[in-house]
Amino acid sequence: MEIILQNYIGGELLSPLEEAYIHGTNPATGETFALVPDSTAKDVDLAVESAQSAFPSWSETPAKERSKILHRIAELIETKYFDQLVEAETTDNGKPLHLSRNVDIPRAAANFHFFASAILHTHTEAFPNESTSLNYTLRQPIGVVGCISPWNLPLYLFTWKIAPALAAGCTVVGKPSEITPYTSFLLSKICMEAGLPAGVLNIVHGTGPKAGRAITSHPEIKAISFTGGTKTGAEISRIAAPMFKKLSLELGGKNPNIIFEDCNYDKMIETTLRSSFSNQGQICLCGSRIFVQEGIYDRFKKDFVKKTEQLKVGDPLAPTTDVGAVVSEAHLNKILNYIELAKEEGGTMLTGGNRIVLEGRCKNGYFVAPTIIEGLDQQCRTNQEEIFGPVVTLAPFKKEEEAIQMANATQYGLSATVWTQNLNVAHRVANKLQAGIVWINTWMLRDLRTYFGGMKQSGVGREGGFQALNFFTEAKNVTIDFT
Ligand code: NAD
Repeated sequence: MEIILQNYIGGELLSPLEEAYIHGTNPATGETFALVPDSTAKDVDLAVESAQSAFPSWSETPAKERSKILHRIAELIETKYFDQLVEAETTDNGKPLHLSRNVDIPRAAANFHFFASAILHTHTEAFPNESTSLNYTLRQPIGVVGCISPWNLPLYLFTWKIAPALAAGCTVVGKPSEITPYTSFLLSKICMEAGLPAGVLNIVHGTGPKAGRAITSHPEIKAISFTGGTKTGAEISRIAAPMFKKLSLELGGKNPNIIFEDCNYDKMIETTLRSSFSNQGQICLCGSRIFVQEGIYDRFKKDFVKKTEQLKVGDPLAPTTDVGAVVSEAHLNKILNYIELAKEEGGTMLTGGNRIVLEGRCKNGYFVAPTIIEGLDQQCRTNQEEIFGPVVTLAPFKKEEEAIQMANATQYGLSATVWTQNLNVAHRVANKLQAGIVWINTWMLRDLRTYFGGMKQSGVGREGGFQALNFFTEAKNVTIDFT
């Protein structure tokens, strides 16, 4: 029996107006387990109306009150709903249960706690002119905003947008990915239970071309916060920019992982294993192009292949599983096509390169062997295009300048990792890398106060900390003449 998901509009759970649904599939089994509203512009219109009527009162609710409600949502995520959310995320996405339990769901709660606290610590600027005049800045919530998120970190990224928008006093029409909507459906129930006033958050489920487009093109939606693919980001800009909507775009990546000979080898190799294959390589921050200095190249290659082959690809529900299912059949085929392309482009498969068929419950699931490819030049499509799966390429380098040049040689600029014990090298390389986020001797060490976002075709704007609160507010200058 499938679970039937509903939209969350005006504080109620509603079926889509046209009663149309799409199938929600468990990627580990290939089975349909949910029916997901295939909402249209009519559902979005209803959600916008309800967000508009909730805006005056929510935007004037004291920050302290908004903060309390957001903390309550976080607490319900952490306690009563925790196990259900963990299981739902893994069922919907295919990620190992331990990732949902230790990363995705705790981070969703942290997003609410963080912005619930941050809103109590804001301040604005003042520009006094001796005894003649004073300017000061008001930061006012922008209105109804649209939040659109992808499937790879479903509740984690959806709440990363919603929490600052609500904290800032905006009302929201949100759309999670139609591929992984289950946890945001549960979030609707949590918000009702936490006492979030009706219409403050509205969640409309459905596809990008229908529900997503209706959000980006709605004249009453004042800002769009989007995370997803670069092509989709370009399409959203084409629609939203001429309407003068504020835009925050977090897009794709093809991140370099630069390993110098003097690195802390054990820490580097364990972390590189994670930065390559965690969440089946489906994290925008994964390091998919690995550059290794020539003195340790052969040693690294041997050890990295061995450790990769020890990763257990299996049922996401099994506690011993390291690598679960990729998110959908379409995505499985995309990854396998890129592997074929890499072979045509002259790449050598050091390990992996194939689909894995499991036995039992997961016999029809979408599993890919962690794959390491060597021998490709940096300009080929495999090294230029985002694959977003458990696939990495290896290349040697001699000198620092060469590594920087290769690292920067793509259209993307999201994140980069550098492994060295030499402080001078670390600072020089970090300074020259074209990436919004640089990790030195670590990966995915996140601090929610910091700037988060990409350069070049990896995005526009920055999320995180007060940046996100600024995005969802308008700055207004007030001048007083004392004379
Ligand atoms: P996607 O662009 O296909 O979809 C993302 C969201 O946009 C979904 O909710 C989708 O329904 C919606 N959408 C699709 N077309 C739309 C349209 N025309 N108008 C409005 N909405 C539309 O991306 P995806 O496949 O879900 O996610 C994977 C991508 O997300 C990768 O490229 C990855 O790098 C990127 N990503 C980036 C970050 C980051 O922080 N930079 C984080 C995670 C994922």
